Amino acid sequence: MSQAILEGETLKTAQRRELEKVHSNLWSLGLTLVTFIIFVPLGASSALRDALGGGDTLLSMTLFVIVFSVVSSLITFPISVYYGFTREKRDEMLKQDFMGWLLDDLKQMAVGLVVSTILFVGLFSAFRAFPDLWFPVSLAGITVFFAVMLFLSPKLARMRFKSAPLENPELEARIQVLFSKAGQKLSKVSKWVFGEKIKQGNAALVPDGLGSEVLISDTLMESIDTEGIEVVLAHELGHRVHKDIQKSMIFAWFSFALMIAASYFAMNALSGMGGIRGATDIAALPILLLVFTVLSEITGLARNAMIRRAEYAADRYAMQQTKNFPAFERAFRALAKDNLSDPNPPEWVEIWLHDHPSIEKRIAAARAWAQTG
Ligand SMILES: [Zn+2]
Repeated sequence: MSQAILEGETLKTAQRRELEKVHSNLWSLGLTLVTFIIFVPLGASSALRDALGGGDTLLSMTLFVIVFSVVSSLITFPISVYYGFTREKRDEMLKQDFMGWLLDDLKQMAVGLVVSTILFVGLFSAFRAFPDLWFPVSLAGITVFFAVMLFLSPKLARMRFKSAPLENPELEARIQVLFSKAGQKLSKVSKWVFGEKIKQGNAALVPDGLGSEVLISDTLMESIDTEGIEVVLAHELGHRVHKDIQKSMIFAWFSFALMIAASYFAMNALSGMGGIRGATDIAALPILLLVFTVLSEITGLARNAMIRRAEYAADRYAMQQTKNFPAFERAFRALAKDNLSDPNPPEWVEIWLHDHPSIEKRIAAARAWAQTG
């Protein structure tokens, strides 16, 4: 066998980070439950609704969602600071100072707040206005919501990390060849500016007009050679060719439909608890969020399994297009090191939390394809 992907202290750090991922998930589940208890059985939700105008008007509902979201974020704030800043700083994954990190975090929270306010006020308005047709109306609403999010995705990709011209004609030419072979339109190749903020590397395709824009992080360019980047982009192109984004959006749409229906019934079933008046009451939002959290843990298992399969398929596509296993292996070894990814996490952690197969498995699968074609 070849040399281990990670060794010594680096391996230990990667394994510890893996365990911390489990802890951080447990914390966020626990705190969702705590928030629910404070707001529903203990009555904070109905008190807040009454203090903010009774929840009968758009303004009153909007204020409720905003205040509730801010309070929930404050409850989880220490955990975000620990896992998002302290731990990343300790492992030298983050280069920003606290203020820089906090500003980015607040910016993301502000965008999340706008998005979730529109979503939740929209849903509760549908529940109130259409007592018999709440389900089809909310499905139509989330369809529009998904379309808008897809349209905004290139902007969201640049929210924390800006982009700049790549200025690497050789790499651009190689990427153009990959796209032409796949019959896909390449609109431009850009550098994704990660290096001033974090150590990790990444690459992505984002929609740009009728074609795709390729984003390659400067950190990836530093640690992977041109052939390796070509393999990584062939993998990303594989997702495009296999229509994986569309598939995961359809999956998300059905999960949302399930979560909306289940939370509607849960809100009515718990009507009366802590002064909450069923699914037409904005004060029932914490019930909806608890149902969303529990169900997304469950549907997440299926989602992760689906995406892990899509990852193998995209790796296979990359091997077929580039026929360059040595570059694949070099690239993934470098990625494991840069991202401090445990190359071989426990099986249950992979099933629960990972939407990518472990790097050890991906390299082994690619090696087999390289031999069999
Ligand atoms: Zn992928």
